[in-house]
Amino acid sequence: MARVLVVEDDPAIRGALLRSLAGAGHAVTSQPTGMAGLTEAVDQPPDVVVLDLGLPDVDGLTVLSMLRAVSSVPVVVATARDDEKEIVRALDLGADDYLVKPFGGDQLEARIRAVLRRAGHDAPPTPIVVGGLVITSASREVTVDGIPVELSRKEFDLLHLLAQRVGEVVTKREILTEVWRQSYGGGDRTVDVHLSWLRRKLGETAADPVYLHSVRGVGVRLVDPRGAHPGSAD
Ligand code: CA
Repeated sequence: MARVLVVEDDPAIRGALLRSLAGAGHAVTSQPTGMAGLTEAVDQPPDVVVLDLGLPDVDGLTVLSMLRAVSSVPVVVATARDDEKEIVRALDLGADDYLVKPFGGDQLEARIRAVLRRAGHDAPPTPIVVGGLVITSASREVTVDGIPVELSRKEFDLLHLLAQRVGEVVTKREILTEVWRQSYGGGDRTVDVHLSWLRRKLGETAADPVYLHSVRGVGVRLVDPRGAHPGSAD
């Protein structure tokens, strides 16, 4: 169960979403305009926002970028426009997932579960420990040798994905799919850039790796530099 805020101007769609989300056991509120949605999302932060892109007052993409300036609440974008460019823009602006209308309640429910899982809602309270690196999903906190490291959303998601699969090579395609929700081509450069920022924050470089080891032409893997058997602490 989650607290879901639906921002949707069409009363029929809004009503249907409210019924299906409430039926799935969520606590649902709704707003018919972008500004009202934004205000509620900031004043009474929900667990997840379902955001229509075609809104009467402010474009949904604008609402999304304003929201992202102040909040990392998971956002599932609902678009009537089956337009890849718009979807890419929404994902670039920080949407966690998207649905193209018309969509069913089950599909929405699955997306909500997925974004909540990625946001760490049902993650185990035990942090993932790899050598001196400690990653706590629920609070999205990372420390290296006990020192907190400030990561952006995407840097955290990237590190968290690698940490869940310690020792395994994760391909850039998998990273794009899991972290950026992009299943189409391109985007390697995006991964490379975030990886280099992440390395810098962890105090290492590609030439002199500690935790993050690139496998040329394949992807990257997170390893325990102390050589111990990596895994979750429990
Ligand atoms: Ca609309």
